[in-house]
Amino acid sequence: MNLVSFSIKTKGMHNFVRRLWTVFARFGFSEARIKQALYALLEASRAYNAAPTFFIPAVVLRRHPALITEIAASGAEIGIHGYVHNDYRCLSEEEQYQQTRQAISIFHSLALPFQGFRNPYLGWTEEVLHIFAALGFTYESNEAVIHDVINCEKLLPAQRSGYEKSMALFQAIEPTAYTLRPHFEGALLRIPTSIPDDEILFDRLRITDPMEIGRIWCQVMERVYSYGGIYTLNLHPERGVLCKLSLEALLRYARSRPQAVWIASLRDVAQWWKERSKFRIGISAVGSDCWLVEASCAPRATLIARHLTVNYQSPIVANGREEVICEHRCILQAAKCPCIALSQRTPVSVMDFLYEQGYPGVWSSPGEATNYSLDLDMPEGLGTTRAEQLERRNSLVQKIEQLDAPLLYFGCWPEECRAALAISGDIDSVTIQDFFLRILEVASAKVPYVAVNRELNKGKLA
Ligand SMILES: [Zn+2]
Repeated sequence: MNLVSFSIKTKGMHNFVRRLWTVFARFGFSEARIKQALYALLEASRAYNAAPTFFIPAVVLRRHPALITEIAASGAEIGIHGYVHNDYRCLSEEEQYQQTRQAISIFHSLALPFQGFRNPYLGWTEEVLHIFAALGFTYESNEAVIHDVINCEKLLPAQRSGYEKSMALFQAIEPTAYTLRPHFEGALLRIPTSIPDDEILFDRLRITDPMEIGRIWCQVMERVYSYGGIYTLNLHPERGVLCKLSLEALLRYARSRPQAVWIASLRDVAQWWKERSKFRIGISAVGSDCWLVEASCAPRATLIARHLTVNYQSPIVANGREEVICEHRCILQAAKCPCIALSQRTPVSVMDFLYEQGYPGVWSSPGEATNYSLDLDMPEGLGTTRAEQLERRNSLVQKIEQLDAPLLYFGCWPEECRAALAISGDIDSVTIQDFFLRILEVASAKVPYVAVNRELNKGKLA
């Protein structure tokens, strides 16, 4: 009764009964309704040359191999959403490992390729990041960035309480230039996802007007765009038909931004980020205030110059605050070398972090440091605990982004795009039978769901 007790705890008995009603309304006894919803999402994305990413529990895939293979053949990316639909935070490390392997073996048995994992309930753990890397996943998409687009003051007390419980369950973090970018932890790429998702908006807050949902999603896109990050939209195909108009509004909005938004599957984002991590910028002095730039990167890389003049050959291109450089070998004019100087006592992990973020760095002695745009002395490095690392990485990226000095760096996205948008969805169930089998499957996978409820009530998952 894990799912039942979870739903009653977080949604209340009245909402639980309402949820049961919607299950019968949204799913069918056959695959037809979800198939229609999956194609609705595929077609909406295809109109923008994009493909959605769907995550599915392996046991659900095993019951519907033909449908999911067909969806994959139509261009969608399929990732893993657990062996069963359970919360990894309630499993031992060994159980997390075994269940991930079981899920992989089902994908292998169907010859269905995969690269990413999203945990049910976004319930990631420290251990599972190592497990994903060891088992060869390219990326995971669990870190939930919460966008402040809901006016909690206007919510009914029960809605507000449910909303706050969801935020705690999802371990949500604040949006910043750093948290809205993917980042590596070892070989594993972490691609942030964004909430509120469709489940929160439709079922908890009962916002059912597709245009209102679309307006909220556009508002999130606007904020992500201003940070230059990625908006990973998280929706469930069971609401795919309901969400089609909202999704079209979001895609239209993204396409109409003054600078392009890259609309891509998570697999494409992961491939790009891996490619981008190898890019390097070489800068050498060629005269008074003149610098030869030689970027080693893919042709689609976006090289950005800030607060400096670019001289392709001649004439000199007028400089603005931020300018995309069209050629990856050029001459720049700037009073200082447009990169970041690191003191010798700063650990190499900080230099690696700068490269990963696209900023060029050089080691420098105290006497030379003032010749560079920014002089960084961080002997304490990026910290040890996760909270410390997040805080220091955040403030370092913020400091660089707000730097009022010449700087050359790689933009986050290819082809001069300012931000990215990925359409993702979790196929938790395909039919009504799947929905109810989920309860038995989670129980038989020996998951004490009550544990997460206990923690949730104590507010420990915040
Ligand atoms: Zn799910």
